[in-house]
Amino acid sequence: MTTLNRWKQSIASQSLKKRWAIGSGAVIFLSFATMSIILFIALKGWLYQQEEQEVNRTMRDLTSFFESQGPFLTVQDIQSNKGLMTSIVDKDQTVRLLNADGIELLQINDTSTFPLFDDIDLPRKGYALNTDKSSSISAIGNIQLGKFVGYVQLEHPLKGFQSIMTYIITTMLLFSVCALLLSGWIGYMLATYLLRPLQDLKISMDDVAAHGFEKDLAISYHAKDEIGELIVVYESMMAKLKSSFEKQQQFMADASHELRTPIQVVEGHLALLNRWGKDDPVILQESLEISLREVKQMKTLIDEMLELARGEQLKERPPTYIVKHTIDVIKEIMQVHPTVYIKHNLPVQEEIEILISSNVYQQIIRNILTNAIRYSKEPAHVSIAYEYKPDEVIVHIQDQGIGIAPNDISKIFDRFYRVDPARSRNLGGSGLGLSIVKMLMDNAGGSIFVKSEKDKGSTFSLMFPLIK
Ligand code: ADP
Repeated sequence: MTTLNRWKQSIASQSLKKRWAIGSGAVIFLSFATMSIILFIALKGWLYQQEEQEVNRTMRDLTSFFESQGPFLTVQDIQSNKGLMTSIVDKDQTVRLLNADGIELLQINDTSTFPLFDDIDLPRKGYALNTDKSSSISAIGNIQLGKFVGYVQLEHPLKGFQSIMTYIITTMLLFSVCALLLSGWIGYMLATYLLRPLQDLKISMDDVAAHGFEKDLAISYHAKDEIGELIVVYESMMAKLKSSFEKQQQFMADASHELRTPIQVVEGHLALLNRWGKDDPVILQESLEISLREVKQMKTLIDEMLELARGEQLKERPPTYIVKHTIDVIKEIMQVHPTVYIKHNLPVQEEIEILISSNVYQQIIRNILTNAIRYSKEPAHVSIAYEYKPDEVIVHIQDQGIGIAPNDISKIFDRFYRVDPARSRNLGGSGLGLSIVKMLMDNAGGSIFVKSEKDKGSTFSLMFPLIK
């Protein structure tokens, strides 16, 4: 593994808070350091230029001083004007005058050791600077006045410049360290503040993991930012999970209760037969009939429970012509209940096409028709009609049966809910038929509505979206 990868991995293993602090700290520090370096380089260049200008000024002043002495300049003239020259030269600068043979004639100030005479390339005319050294700037110029030929040499130490630079660099380093610490601290505090809702979310999740859905979520973060949105999504997801978990628990409790009843009845009759009933042909016959009826009831219940479970997975919706499937179900029902009267009002259009699997459609119609017959006095009268709307088609199934009281209407789609449990059981009902219909309608993108009046009859209206 390369160092870079190892480095990346070690950063990835840190907490988000630390990574945030390190990241923002590094970014702030790097920007500050880059700015400081640029400022430092610019300042250094400018200050060095000032020093060079100082040397140029002195050299120019010296040259004009010599020129002002006229063409007959002698060594004595120069030496007698030392005071004037001293005023031209800065107190830090050192100047010496040499004749053509390199012999020193005069020295002003003595604050530095002079470089060797041949350190500098002698210019033909005027003067030249040597800026190669870090400790000073040197200059050498020609003097040619009348008979006098010589050189003027200047040494300009950079002590002031260097101490300013040292001061600037120390200050910048100090500021950089402070900036690093401050930005790290600000990053950490900011991360702590911004990540607090996530921390709360984690605590709440831990709570759910440890205690299930017993406790309500306690996240008091209502900002409309990304974390706020995440919390809203989480809360709605948890609410759905909770409701589906509760429904599942309720279903398990209801299912076991429903299954226990027929099992207890069969068990009771078998015990009766085992003790003495088998010798009495009347009791034997009766017990066997009751047991068979209960076993049949159990079978229906199990089939419907399986259908509910399976239906939640079957969500395929091919385009299907529904009128012919209604007719198939009517024929099938008429074979079981030959006395029933079913009026099928065909639609104006010969066929209606919607997105639903034919099995699912038949199952829905079969359940509603079976109920219409089951909860009507014999012979049952049922009518089926189709209503067209711009975006949907509604299949109305109307009976003239016992009707449903207003209080019960909202509950009949609940699993195992029966208005009259004994009557429903006797007629072979399981309490699951309408919840299956509701689930299948939801899967098909449709909806179901009921209008009912006690002792007058009920109308179940199935709304299916039309294919666009
Ligand atoms: P069940 O197997 O008991 O019929 P359903 O889920 O199909 O279960 O129906 C729930 C309850 O709704 C029934 O027990 C019955 O009381 C009532 N119900 C359903 N359809 C009708 C109807 N057409 N007329 C009157 N009551 C009905």
